[in-house]
Amino acid sequence: MVRIDGSKGEGGGQVLRTSLALSLVTGTPFQVVNIRAGRSKPGLLRQHLTAVKAAAAVGNAEVEGAELHSKELTFRPRGVTPGDYHFAVGTAGSATLVLQTVLPALLGASGPSTLVLEGGTHNPAAPPFGFLEKAYLPLVRRMGPSVEATLERPGFFPAGGGKFDVLVKPAPLKPLHLLERGNVVRRQATALITQVPFDVAKRELETVGRKLGWLAEERRVEELKRSPGPGNALSLEIESEHVTEVFTAFGERGVRAEDVAETVAEEARVYLEAGVPVGHHLCDQLLLLLALARGGSFRTLPLDGHARTQLETFAHFLDVKFSVNEVSPQVREVEVRGT
Ligand code: ATP
Repeated sequence: MVRIDGSKGEGGGQVLRTSLALSLVTGTPFQVVNIRAGRSKPGLLRQHLTAVKAAAAVGNAEVEGAELHSKELTFRPRGVTPGDYHFAVGTAGSATLVLQTVLPALLGASGPSTLVLEGGTHNPAAPPFGFLEKAYLPLVRRMGPSVEATLERPGFFPAGGGKFDVLVKPAPLKPLHLLERGNVVRRQATALITQVPFDVAKRELETVGRKLGWLAEERRVEELKRSPGPGNALSLEIESEHVTEVFTAFGERGVRAEDVAETVAEEARVYLEAGVPVGHHLCDQLLLLLALARGGSFRTLPLDGHARTQLETFAHFLDVKFSVNEVSPQVREVEVRGT
């Protein structure tokens, strides 16, 4: 039984989700203590509990400690079963993070699966749906499996109530090499709004124009329909010859539209200036995919605490070697080798 201290590294929910994902893939049971000890509301919140239950359903697992606010969990998987699943967070907690927990196992399962996920689809501190669709899933497909996601209804914090479907056709994961970005071929700033004044979107897009020099035809407002509550997100999509990256910031009550736009524009500026194909969040996700493929390489920005915590968590479950080399002050090359 693998024992994990959830207070190590970032001390957040990612340690739990990655452990669940790798436990399912490898069939290794684990116990985690001090769950999310580094967060202001530690223990399992609704989103984490849904992820645990989803993983238990997909992996026929025996679980102890799967309760709200629990700080300890024991998880013993007994084989992954592909099939039709429906997981609902029940609050605005991120449904995309529930997908992140079960998808790795379903990519390598013995047959196809369909998932219906309900909860938040556009949450701060989680992959927004547009990032899944445009940045992450195309790379999964390039590695072999076929995964298609369809947004049925957006869900923003605090109302939640979003819904999306995912169709997974498994295939062995092939190593991926992503060292070059190539030329930028398309830039698209999208201000998503639902039940929020149009002026908010307009001010966000003007800020992107001012800060990044993106042209009027590269900026657009998208009014989302069918959202149960109000919401606003600004996403910057950068399509290059070899990869598409998506950066997102969320509008919040009390935060000026200009400040929301400044934050995400700065993220995009750093990425563009470094010349790397992979930004911070995509790095988190790719590390796991490459670890499962037991090979691959990519260039990215200097690794942050999340990425380092991911690597520490992998070491409990997988015999995979990572090397991170400094190419320049702003560029790191990550290489993965399975043993
Ligand atoms: P919690 O403890 O509340 O569950 P956490 O600390 O585990 O949170 P993070 O590690 O901050 O959560 O983020 C969760 C995941 O969401 C990470 O894989 C991260 O890369 C991803 N993520 C966060 N923000 C974005 C974003 N804007 N775009 C894409 N992915 C994101």
